Amino acid sequence: MHSLLETNITYLKGVGPKKAEILKKELGIVDFNDLLNYFPFRYVDKSKIYNVSDISSGNSYFQLVGNISNLRKVGDKRTRYITATLTDSTGSIGLVWFKGLQWVINRFVPGRKYLIFGKPSVFQNQFNFVHPEVEDYDEERVNIGNQRLEGIYSSTEKLRNTGLGTRGISKLLKELLSQCKDKLPETLPDYIVERWNLISRKEALINIHFPENASIIDNAKIRLKFEELLLVQLQLLQQKNSLNRKINGQVFRLVGTNFNRFFSDNLPFELTGAQKRVIREIRHDMRSGYQMNRLLQGDVGSGKTMVALMCMLIAMDNNFQSCIMAPTEILATQHFNSIRRMLLDMDVRVKLLTGSTKKKDRKIIHDELLDGSLNILIGTHAVIEDSVKFSNLGFVVIDEQHRFGVAQRARLWRKNKIPPHVLVMTATPIPRTLAMTVYGNLDISIIDELPPGRKHVATSHLFENKRLRILGFMKEQIKQGRQIYVVYPLIRESEKVDLKNLMDGYANMLQDFPMPEYQVSVVHGRMKSEDKEFEMQRFVEGKTDIMVSTTVIEVGVDVPNASVMIIENAERFGLSQLHQLRGRVGRGADQSYCILVSGYKLSNEGRKRLEIMVETTDGFKIAEADLKLRGPGDLQGTQQSGVLDLKIASLVHDSNLITRTRDVAEEILSKDSTLSSPVNSLLYKQLDQIRKGKQNWGRIS
Ligand code: ADP
Ligand code: MG
Repeated sequence: MHSLLETNITYLKGVGPKKAEILKKELGIVDFNDLLNYFPFRYVDKSKIYNVSDISSGNSYFQLVGNISNLRKVGDKRTRYITATLTDSTGSIGLVWFKGLQWVINRFVPGRKYLIFGKPSVFQNQFNFVHPEVEDYDEERVNIGNQRLEGIYSSTEKLRNTGLGTRGISKLLKELLSQCKDKLPETLPDYIVERWNLISRKEALINIHFPENASIIDNAKIRLKFEELLLVQLQLLQQKNSLNRKINGQVFRLVGTNFNRFFSDNLPFELTGAQKRVIREIRHDMRSGYQMNRLLQGDVGSGKTMVALMCMLIAMDNNFQSCIMAPTEILATQHFNSIRRMLLDMDVRVKLLTGSTKKKDRKIIHDELLDGSLNILIGTHAVIEDSVKFSNLGFVVIDEQHRFGVAQRARLWRKNKIPPHVLVMTATPIPRTLAMTVYGNLDISIIDELPPGRKHVATSHLFENKRLRILGFMKEQIKQGRQIYVVYPLIRESEKVDLKNLMDGYANMLQDFPMPEYQVSVVHGRMKSEDKEFEMQRFVEGKTDIMVSTTVIEVGVDVPNASVMIIENAERFGLSQLHQLRGRVGRGADQSYCILVSGYKLSNEGRKRLEIMVETTDGFKIAEADLKLRGPGDLQGTQQSGVLDLKIASLVHDSNLITRTRDVAEEILSKDSTLSSPVNSLLYKQLDQIRKGKQNWGRIS
């Protein structure tokens, strides 16, 4: 038997099959419960009726009462729309409809008064209302007006055309709540409601839709967000705990000759305190008997790769193979080269496997993996193919996890009877709230310290008209023996335009920096990989002074002598990309510079991004700012994560609640890890439902 709230929305008064279909398509609303959980995104004070003369901005909502006249069709057959005029005692304002024209025509009776509501827009220097909400004016209702604040629901064109604008949705909710407001059971255990001073679920749901007053809205929101986030955290922590507990891990008992020899002979520098700490954390997991699933966060250049390498040596000391999986061929190749360089003279066999590995070499790699003679495999997606089989895979490093889905990770796990330990490395830091949610089922290690001697990269933002100054600066730096990157954006949709920008830039560069005095390299995505490699190599060896490229160098070479990063059309890059690019300089002993060049026309967001880059070099701060600017939807890693289905809580604005509910969830699970105690039965039930997915046939279309 299902509960009232699982009733299909078609059975709600005012919803027929057509509306039901559209509600499902547009908003994913299938049953009563879904509608109940469709919350307003803001509220307006509907007790107030404005005058036409009050309208002074298109930024807020207005409610007017007046007569509607001059109703007429305008335009020809293809562009037909309807205009009308609403008049009150202070003036008149235009109303416009582009859709549902017949409905509009039939809607109005001349001489009658109507209540209209909407956000005015400006057309030909005059305010008007496009597709306003319309209601018959009922003096009594308005005067009684017990409900001052009305929720505004986001709607869509299609919904509005079927009468489900914000007011239509609100009406449905009123109907729904009148049917079931006494059947809204508490879903959190009493002890939680009491301890955290939450209002009841019933009170919260009624007031989120039809608030009695402004202050109760906050309480309703907190209650609903708390519950939502608590359930997310309970899920994540249970997942994490059960991974740790259920899955046996390989036990790496010793730190042996490979690690020790590397440490004493090959390590070219002292490890930072943070690197040592993280290696200890990983070491602890490797010995624990449980499978490690750990996220390693650290800023660009903080030395994550070094940590990964040293852990692979420990795996080798315990007779296990390791594998690094990188998202692009360039990145994989870079890891391969730098790891081979670091392992110089050591008896460690390392190979590279990518999409372009020749068949013959591939065969050799397959054989060496199977007979166990290959110790470390570095590659792209190619490493997860079924044909790649290991003799004893014990440790897997996934670089830049966001580009790999969970399913791909699982394929790596299955490459050994006992799954390998997994270390996921991010290219740039992740904001705390995301780390606790999107990555909340992983253990987390953070490298929060850069190697000593890193110079702060002096960053400035210049407009294009300062090009002469920039050229002068470049020449001066080259004279001092430095090398320079000049980067152009690459956005796939317009690859051709991008390439043209780059080639024009390159041509200018050749004029400004004539041979033989200067040498300029160019690298872009359309080049053959041998040519790319050749050009990059010339720059690495210091044979060229300037490297002109698209973002391919983002994950490219490490050239300590390069001290200037010039980013053209910087406004077109995202923050984390800018940060990555800037991380290419400041690796050597010299003062480094990053110059962000942009046009004058900047969007607000574009300007903010550049400001943030000038302000700080701290990757964690930049990540936070990025999250605030863009919202979580666009951030790396979030797309494939269910956490984004949050209905009311926000990963951007609710960081305090996220932290608090994580603590609460930890506490609950520390006392009752399976939630089997009677006091937690409500939580158990909810999680169980989430786990099963909603088994509602109405959802399957
Ligand atoms: P990440 O992968 O975090 O971006 P890398 O591991 O590639 O960083 O390291 C960046 C550079 O810093 C490399 O040239 C590396 O050799 C160097 N490096 C790493 N750890 C240290 C350290 N403790 N001291 C000095 N240099 C280091
Ligand atoms: Mg790296």
